Amino acid sequence: MTAKPNLHRMEVSGWLPNETLYSLFAREHVLSLQSRAGATTQRLFGHSRQGDRHDIPAHVDTFLSRSGGSLKTSFSDLVAHHTILPFYLPWRSARCEEEILAEVKRNSSGRTKSLLGLMSSRFGAAHPLKYCPLCCTSDVKMYSTTYWHRDHQYPGAWSCPTHFCKLTAASTKANGIGRFLWILPHDDPQFDCASPATSAPASWLSFTSLVIASSIGLYQGRIDYRQLHDTYVNDLALLGYGRGRRQLNLKRVAADCADAAMEVSELPEFNALPLDPECRPGYVQTVLRLSGHSSNPLRHLLFIHWLYGTWLKFCEAYRSDRASPSLTQLTAQSPPQAGLSASQVEALTLIRDRGYSARRAAAQVGVQTETVIRWAAKAHVPLKLRRPPRHTAVIRELLKGKRATDVAQTLGVKIGVVVGLLHAIPDLRQQWITACLERKWRDTHRRWQQLVKRFPSAGITALRRRDPADYVWLYRHDRDWLYKTSSESVTPGPSRTSHVDWHARDVALALEVRNFIAHEQPGESSGTPRQAMLAALPKLRCWQRREELLPRTFTLVHKYLAQCRKEN
Ligand SMILES: [Zn+2]
Repeated sequence: MTAKPNLHRMEVSGWLPNETLYSLFAREHVLSLQSRAGATTQRLFGHSRQGDRHDIPAHVDTFLSRSGGSLKTSFSDLVAHHTILPFYLPWRSARCEEEILAEVKRNSSGRTKSLLGLMSSRFGAAHPLKYCPLCCTSDVKMYSTTYWHRDHQYPGAWSCPTHFCKLTAASTKANGIGRFLWILPHDDPQFDCASPATSAPASWLSFTSLVIASSIGLYQGRIDYRQLHDTYVNDLALLGYGRGRRQLNLKRVAADCADAAMEVSELPEFNALPLDPECRPGYVQTVLRLSGHSSNPLRHLLFIHWLYGTWLKFCEAYRSDRASPSLTQLTAQSPPQAGLSASQVEALTLIRDRGYSARRAAAQVGVQTETVIRWAAKAHVPLKLRRPPRHTAVIRELLKGKRATDVAQTLGVKIGVVVGLLHAIPDLRQQWITACLERKWRDTHRRWQQLVKRFPSAGITALRRRDPADYVWLYRHDRDWLYKTSSESVTPGPSRTSHVDWHARDVALALEVRNFIAHEQPGESSGTPRQAMLAALPKLRCWQRREELLPRTFTLVHKYLAQCRKEN
């Protein structure tokens, strides 16, 4: 009797750094020399259509038992280190997490997505596969293959934390295209290692590091929404967003948050987020709501990005058991000392009244220099910083509204220095964001005006086709100006037809008909003269119903057809 072939042996020898579970399966598909994706799925999961999702894994128990422990990875290790679930789980309740993990173990990913709240959130349930071209180049050198890095797959992460460039989304596996395939980055039709990487805006970089840090930092912990609410409210009050004794000025919070979030809001995940002026307070209210779980962590991460900048700073605030300066303790015009702990008051007094540096004040009260810098920034106490000359140059360039990566490149400093300065100096980040916005505003308006000048008779649709990026930006941020400036032959909506110049269209079309008649040899084509004409000028068919608006054209058409009938 011959032995059964060993279906459980894995061809891959182990995990690559920061690799996702899907990536491991895709490598297994390549190494096992299978031509059909279904055959690999069958081998791994005992079914040709199960377990092939690239984002939220499913049927993991089946895979683990079939692989016979050859990967030496337990279920919990696999979830913690090789999936994007650590991004979502800490924001769900313990019971919900239990249900989700049970689904991941045994069932399909469809129900897991609805348990994660993805189906009901505005952010969408799709997770496109993303890769960094520079990481791919170095992966090929080191491991002879490209693979999917987990840090690139988190929702909201659109820049590479290693190379500071934008990530590319693969067209396969997204929106159901090739949904059953096992692919690696180099299998993507758009993959091109030689194409230059685009540097990512600083806000994208800091948002990506926040997303990654939150996933690592929170896993196996859980967000306490009450504590989160208290942290937000206390810190907003400290920053001067209080109104009276018990309330927050939500309008101001919303306006400042939305301004700061504008660059990040261009990330695909935030397309559906209501950052329009009239909807902003609604967004902030949802974030500050005391009860109930958030449908998607991105909502909070956007807010945390604005309020704290980094995950570390948020954690300090969230976990600190300071004597909570609750909003009710604050008066409307409270002095900076209100609600501060004794060490905070001491450190701030040393800085303000005795001219201490942050480092000296920190040593005096026995805390980290970083902590004192944060206290001072919150209480708007200016710090005496001894800045090296290159720091002054960095600040000067940032205030011109240049991208952090460009500033770093121009001045030959590390991006970390630029990002560090943005977080260390009070108000610098806000001033930089304002400068970036003004610059973007100026540049986009100038480019659009030049486009309108170049094509004065083109409608807004034609202009949009020539410069879709600027159109979208202006449509979002300055719609009135966009329509006023562009020649308004076509505007979206039902009133579109009223702007069509029917006279011009009639003249042009009549000319085409005349040309057709001049070159047509009756009896040459197989069909009737009418069919021949419609075949040569298919647009006539569409406009037959608007005959009264095109008198020149249709008079010619009727004359020609009558003549043909007479000749026959
Ligand atoms: Zn990279």
